[in-house]
Amino acid sequence: MSIEPPRSLRALTPAVHAWLPDGHDTWGLANCILITDQDSALLVDTPYTTDLTRHLLNLTAEVLPPGVAITTVVNTHGNGDHSYGNGVFTAAGAEVVSTDANSEHLCKEPSPAQLARLVAESDPDTPLGAYLHRHFSRYGDFGVSEAVPPTRTFNGRLDLAVGGVAVELIEVGPAHTAGDLIVNLPGEGVVCSGDVIFCEDHPVHWAGPLDEIHRAVQRVLACEPRIIVPGHGPVMTPADVAANAEYLLRIRDRIHASHAAGHPLAQAAAELIAAETNPRWGLTERLAILTALEYRVLDADTSPVDMISLVDLAARHAAPAPQTAKSPAL
Ligand SMILES: [Zn+2]
Repeated sequence: MSIEPPRSLRALTPAVHAWLPDGHDTWGLANCILITDQDSALLVDTPYTTDLTRHLLNLTAEVLPPGVAITTVVNTHGNGDHSYGNGVFTAAGAEVVSTDANSEHLCKEPSPAQLARLVAESDPDTPLGAYLHRHFSRYGDFGVSEAVPPTRTFNGRLDLAVGGVAVELIEVGPAHTAGDLIVNLPGEGVVCSGDVIFCEDHPVHWAGPLDEIHRAVQRVLACEPRIIVPGHGPVMTPADVAANAEYLLRIRDRIHASHAAGHPLAQAAAELIAAETNPRWGLTERLAILTALEYRVLDADTSPVDMISLVDLAARHAAPAPQTAKSPAL
């Protein structure tokens, strides 16, 4: 499947433009947000590949004042689909800002080279191999072999400014990952939530549990934004985000009920997928990962989270890939 990046940035306010790829029903196409003023610019998150990052850079040239470059990059968290493009900006002298915990988490993720090798060498006849090929082979070798970590980190909160635009970095992790942050632009009425919130796809989380995701979503709402840019999917209203928060509690309660009934993990995941599948959302199988994270907490399992085994679990609950070509009539 080829990638069709956005043809233009979307203006949310005069100072805020969003790069919103259509990542529905697949992994890896995350939103990036450009914040500009007369003589400076900041980018929230970088794309998964060097090619996509260059594409984004070309579009920012249509928005940035002459002579202004992106000198600050913020990573909302340490997943590669929000940070593998960092090196394009650090090579030009930009700083990369994130939380201490995100910086540490990035070291535990597979490197771009390791991930590319995993996809290329996985057996397409296994559920995991087929799933990786379906969702990740389109990214090739990512155009970079090693992730570029943040150059400046903080704990709790960091206030920045892009000219006259106030930029509040608020740590809300652990939630989606160990050290998520949200970007609040109080003067613009915009919050960039990173992957604390997904829109129009079933969510995936790596740290959790769901109570912590819910707390982070409430922190987004407490900023009283008019517009929320999720990590993936279209921009949202506060009402959309409030509905998302209720959804998190509903699936938490279902998983806990399955656990209390003594249902094994695979059964609980299947039950949740059957009960909570939103037909307009993609990637229902990711509910299996949320079930596994919740079971870890309920079982007091403190062993390190193995991302690949969680993706394997999701792959085993995924519907078959849609046929792209009709079989010849027999
Ligand atoms: Zn993401």
